[in-house]
Amino acid sequence: MAERITVKSQSQLEKMRVAGRLVGETLNFVETLIRPGISTYELDREAEAFIRKHGGVPSFLGYNGFPASLCTSINEQVVHGIPSKKVKLREGDIISVDCGAIVDGWHGDAARTFLVGEVAPEVKQLVEVTRECFFKGAEQAVEGNHLIDIARAVEQHAKAYGYGVIREMVGHGIGTHMHEPPEVPNYVDPRMGKGVKLIEGMTLAVEPMISLGTWKLVFAPDGWTASTADGSAAAHYENTLIVGKNSSELLTLV
Ligand code: MG
Ligand code: MG
Repeated sequence: MAERITVKSQSQLEKMRVAGRLVGETLNFVETLIRPGISTYELDREAEAFIRKHGGVPSFLGYNGFPASLCTSINEQVVHGIPSKKVKLREGDIISVDCGAIVDGWHGDAARTFLVGEVAPEVKQLVEVTRECFFKGAEQAVEGNHLIDIARAVEQHAKAYGYGVIREMVGHGIGTHMHEPPEVPNYVDPRMGKGVKLIEGMTLAVEPMISLGTWKLVFAPDGWTASTADGSAAAHYENTLIVGKNSSELLTLV
């Protein structure tokens, strides 16, 4: 973890654009593989090969001991699901795929929730609204705003649907480390004040994690997989972005 918030130079941002594009392309590639019957292990193998073929290194592999290149979290699993040969997608599932890559020392980080075949309408809406929550947050990632503006925008949109906003996991700064300060929460906590003031050239991973029910999490015995405490479905949508003067630039959406 880097110790302070950094504002990146133009040449550094150029490197982050390259890493971000590779992450976005990897997720687009993974999306083409999503179908009933495929295992999360196969998705992971394909994604890692794709990242390496295009000159990247998977960020997640070995991170605090994480054993894979993707996090694959199905239905009530929110984040950090571990790919497995035993876990095969079924019609009606949703799967959140989180991916990170390093190119030339710089990181990109992004996540999508994909539908497997026909998904129940209320779950489909959760997935769509979680994506919208990201864009509401990203609109606020402009110079002069504060972190709370991102948090409020995400939370208000989710709350309008009665959804739960996950609190224990948050977005983050990103650069030469996958996780840099500041933390980027998706909810307003009065104790945190306004949060830091945003400056052009800061790079953030904004990542709403939203559930149909509770915001509370439970952790699996594997020490990684975080699921909703009430078993309700959850979705995750993330992009790495650059804070700009008037708008943010999304690096991982291609
Ligand atoms: Mg991520
Ligand atoms: Mg992230």
